[in-house]
Parts: sequence; structure tokens; C-alpha cells
Amino acid sequence: MSNKRIVIVGAGHAGGRVAQRLAQLCPQAGITLIGRETVAPYERPPLSKEYLLGLSSVEQFAVWQDASPALIDYRMGIEVTGIDRRRKKVTVSDGAEIGYDTLVLASGRRSRRLAVAGDHLAGVHYLRTINDADELAASLSGATSIAIVGGGLIGLEVAAAVRSRGIGASVIEAGKTLLGRVAAAPVSEALTRRHIDEGVNIRTGRTLNRIDSKDGHSVNGITLSDGEKIACDRTLIAIGSEPESAIAIDIQKDAQGVVLVDNQLRSSDPNIFAVGDVASHWSSIYEQNIAVESWQNAEQQANLVCRVIAGEKTTYELAPVSWSDQYDLTMNMVGMPNIGSVSVVRQSSPDEIIHFEFDSAMRLLYACALGKRGKHARAAQVAQRLIERRKPLDASLVADPAIDLRKML
Ligand SMILES: Cc1cc2nc3c(=O)[nH]c(=O)nc-3n(C[C@H](O)[C@H](O)[C@H](O)COP(=O)(O)OP(=O)(O)OC[C@H]3O[C@@H](n4cnc5c(N)ncnc54)[C@H](O)[C@@H]3O)c2cc1C
Repeated sequence: MSNKRIVIVGAGHAGGRVAQRLAQLCPQAGITLIGRETVAPYERPPLSKEYLLGLSSVEQFAVWQDASPALIDYRMGIEVTGIDRRRKKVTVSDGAEIGYDTLVLASGRRSRRLAVAGDHLAGVHYLRTINDADELAASLSGATSIAIVGGGLIGLEVAAAVRSRGIGASVIEAGKTLLGRVAAAPVSEALTRRHIDEGVNIRTGRTLNRIDSKDGHSVNGITLSDGEKIACDRTLIAIGSEPESAIAIDIQKDAQGVVLVDNQLRSSDPNIFAVGDVASHWSSIYEQNIAVESWQNAEQQANLVCRVIAGEKTTYELAPVSWSDQYDLTMNMVGMPNIGSVSVVRQSSPDEIIHFEFDSAMRLLYACALGKRGKHARAAQVAQRLIERRKPLDASLVADPAIDLRKML
């Protein structure tokens, strides 16, 4: 494969890292990085945590901690509007066409929008980009109470952040429990208890019917599907995200539009790779394609794709890892949830808990830990290695908090 011209679509976490590493690994290549946002590549986790509270600045979580890497033609504030695979060119929003030999799609995801009455009102927010975070932070400075629609990771992180500022928070979740997609009952219950103790109003099994306003201009409450009205002056819609993959026409995708790639992160077009949130990679651990939305996945896939493009014969074999900080707690998630047939809980106190999921041969598939910050970081690393090794484990040993998980490696 010729790597004379490498074009990267999307200058977020994964795209920024791909550009930086490629400049080191393939200094002879022409590298073009095209990003819609008007900020140099940055990492997103602080947006729902310390950055939202004004406790960090974008420089601290920039992907390029030193000066912009040399050798990169970085087109900031430019959108890729089409890919012509036959002519191997991308078209961009300023009308230019840019040719490529190799294309890396790192276009991530966007917030899923909710169309309800009142969705246009001042005080209705989404959270995906640093602009969204700046708008939400400015809006919160005059707020008394926010209704958060969606009890997933981002919604709950924002609930925890606003409570630390004394702002009221309600969380509306359509599912029966919070974090239904990632946390099994014991972890979800422990975290829900903590949010309730911190004063968060939680409503599960209900959806948002409309956003209300007295003056027709700004939010003054919401109405739920069962008719309940909740007073609030801000609303955050945090109901998940959708892949930014519309430009990848005639490339294989899953039913949600996530780009399918093999274990070298190559799509059905051999000249096009996809990494990070927009990609679903072939996992030999799970023997299926899996789409992962996490910091670690963006970082590791960016590194791997550069080595593949540079000619190394390597494959992506890591189990997914992610985390979420809420109050003084961290949730560590490793592997793929909701596919196991056996569950084991390891619990040393009401809010120090690890939930494990195994297949019928007692091979670990998923672990979700909740505890004080840093408490389970080591256990999460060990769980990742246990998942990758696919070795059957003894449930009674896994359940015993007195036994060091490392002994099972
Ligand atoms: C608020 C928030 C908090 C998070 N917290 C955590 C956490 O605590 N732990 C964790 O593990 N993960 C967390 N994540 C997830 C993690 O940040 C993402 O998985 C990661 O950012 C994915 O990186 P990416 O490069 O694939 O996508 P992104 O970082 O989204 O970058 C994609 C970029 O591509 C650009 N783009 C899209 N389409 C085009 C186009 N056509 N032309 C040009 N540019 C385009 C977008 O504007 C964007 O800048 C969080 C995410 C969010 C939003």
C-alpha cells in the first residue's frame, strides 16, 4: 500500500493522536488532518467533570501536550463533506478536494437529539464538545436546578458535578434502572443510592414528554410521560450518541451506522481505516465486532492503526476499558457487558463492589467495579488481563475480597 498521502477525517482524540504518531512513524508521508471543531484536538472526559466546574483548562487535556506536531497539514474548522472512493479524494466544506492513498476515519460520534415540545428553549443543552461544555457551564452559573434526561454515564457525571455546586438535579431515565447498559444491579443500586443521598431526584421507567416554559423563551420545568411535572430552569439531554459515519458511503457498517473494521482496523475498503468511537472492530476475544466508546479505545486504536499503516503486522487484541468519576467514586468498566451467563459479586463494603460476568466455561467477559477513587484501578487492570487470557476461573475465589485477583493470572 502506498502511504504517500494520508488523510485523517476528524481531529478529536483519536484523529489528533493518529496524526501525531504518524508524523513520527511515517515522516516521509504527507499527513492531512481535517477537523470540524475550531479547537486543537482534545480529550473529552473532563467536559462532564472538572472542566464543567471550571477546575481545569483545555490546555491540560489537549491531545498534543507540546507544540502542534511538525509535518502535519492541519485544517481546523473544516468539515469533510464527502469521500469519493473511486478517485480517492475527499471533498471539504471550503470546496477543496484532497487526494489520499490512505484515509483514516476518526470522526467519532455526535449527541443523539431528542425532538420534543420545548426543545428549542433557552436552557436546553447537549454535551459532546468543548463548545457544549462552555455553554452548559455558563448557563449553570445562574441556575437553581437542572433536569437531566438520560441516566447514563454522562448524565450522572453532570448530576454529580452540579450537586457539588449546590444546584438541584433530577435524572429521568426511561429504563428500569440507571446505567442499564453498563452496570449490573448491585453496582447500579449502590451508585443510585449515592446519588439519592447527594440529593438527586431520580425517576426511572419514565420518559420526557415536553419541556415547559412560562415565558415561551426559557425552561421553567419538564413534564414526564406519566404527567408528573418537575420544576427546573435548565435541561440536559444525555440520551446517548450516534456515529458520524454518513460520509462513509458504501462502506460496511452495523445497524447503528458504526463502521465495521477488522482486527487491523481496516474497513471493507482496504484504503480506509476507522478508529475510535466511529469504529466497531473485530474482537478475537468476543468473536464478534464490538463498538467501544472510551478514552482508552481512542488512544490505543490510534496507536495501533499508525503501526499498521507503517507496515507492522500487528492486530488489535485489547479488551475494552473505561471509567466514570462521580463524587469521590470511580466506576471502572472492563470488557463487554450483558453477554455473560454467570454473575459473581465481590463486595467488601456497601459501596466497594465488583461485579463479574462469565461465560458458561467461567471465562471472564466483563467486570464493573465501584469504589473510592483509585480503589479498583489495579483490579481493573488485572480484570483486563484475565479477559484477554480467556482462562476459566474459580467463582468462589473471584467472589472472595480477601483473595488477590492477581493470583488468578
Ligand atoms: C462528555 C464526555 C465525557 C466522557 N467521559 C469519559 C470517561 O470518563 N471515560 C472514558 O473512558 N471515556 C469518556 N468519554 C468517551 C471518550 O471521550 C470518547 O470515546 C473519545 O473522545 C472518542 O474519540 P474519537 O476521536 O473517536 O471521537 P471524538 O473525540 O468525538 O472526535 C471526533 C472528531 O471528529 C470531528 N468530525 C466528525 N465528523 C467530521 C467531518 N465530517 N469532518 C471533519 N471533522 C469531523 C468531530 O467534530 C470531532 O472533533 C466521554 C465522552 C464525552 C462526550
